[in-house]
Amino acid sequence: MTTSANTQSSGELKYEGKAKRVFATANPGEYRVEYKDDATAFNAQKRGSWAGKGATNNAITALLYPQLEDAGVPTHFLKKLSDTEQLVRAVTIVPIEVIVRNVAAGSFAKKLGLEEGTPLSRPVVEYCYKSDALGDPLVNTDTAVALGWASVAEMKRIRQLAIQVRDFLTPYFLTRGIRLIDFKLEFGKLPGLSDPGEAIVLADEISPDTCRFWDAETGEKMDKDRFRRDLGGVEAAYAEMLRRIEQG
Ligand code: UDP
Repeated sequence: MTTSANTQSSGELKYEGKAKRVFATANPGEYRVEYKDDATAFNAQKRGSWAGKGATNNAITALLYPQLEDAGVPTHFLKKLSDTEQLVRAVTIVPIEVIVRNVAAGSFAKKLGLEEGTPLSRPVVEYCYKSDALGDPLVNTDTAVALGWASVAEMKRIRQLAIQVRDFLTPYFLTRGIRLIDFKLEFGKLPGLSDPGEAIVLADEISPDTCRFWDAETGEKMDKDRFRRDLGGVEAAYAEMLRRIEQG
């Protein structure tokens, strides 16, 4: 997938992750994010790639984030620059993966001996320390505060925003024939702001890489589990998720 003429002249590479690269821009308050076609699973032990993955995830995030903003969730997203690039506000990422669960699946189901698909009577929010080397270990608010990743007030705001994202996205996807099983969020801090209500913004992406989506009628998996579990049809599932979101 080639990028369009919108592409800004390449700034310094600030960060390279498994599925994205983040570049500086001429404006210190803004970064350019480039979505890659690479996929990893199981803390990067399984690797793959397929054409169009970056573009699909970029398109999905670029459609969802403005709608989340409208629903009262501040985000880092500014605008889509090209098929595979977006402009975002420069933030310091809180090194925590915030996982929100509506239904038991994946590692949660395994760990607790629950059948995948067991509904949860209320959403479960979990925090994992972002470290592939350590296997993204489960942590809690005390850990985050004690290690200086975030303050008590910032953790409170992060949890509140995570639930707000869940309350918006769960019915949003259901009207598109999709059950939102669980998802992962990351949050960032805007520089120079002390009030967590202003400083904390939703960052990263929301896509089939970071959510479990099950077709509401057939139960078919429409997300990265197709890659993780070698189910086949991963490209088609991502494309179908984009189609359902584009349909409005
Ligand atoms: N997830 C993610 N990145 C990670 C770990 C999890 O995006 O590094 C997402 C995953 O796609 C799923 C949710 O978070 O939608 C919960 O994942 P879980 O903890 O069950 O881990 P898994 O079973 O994927 O190892």
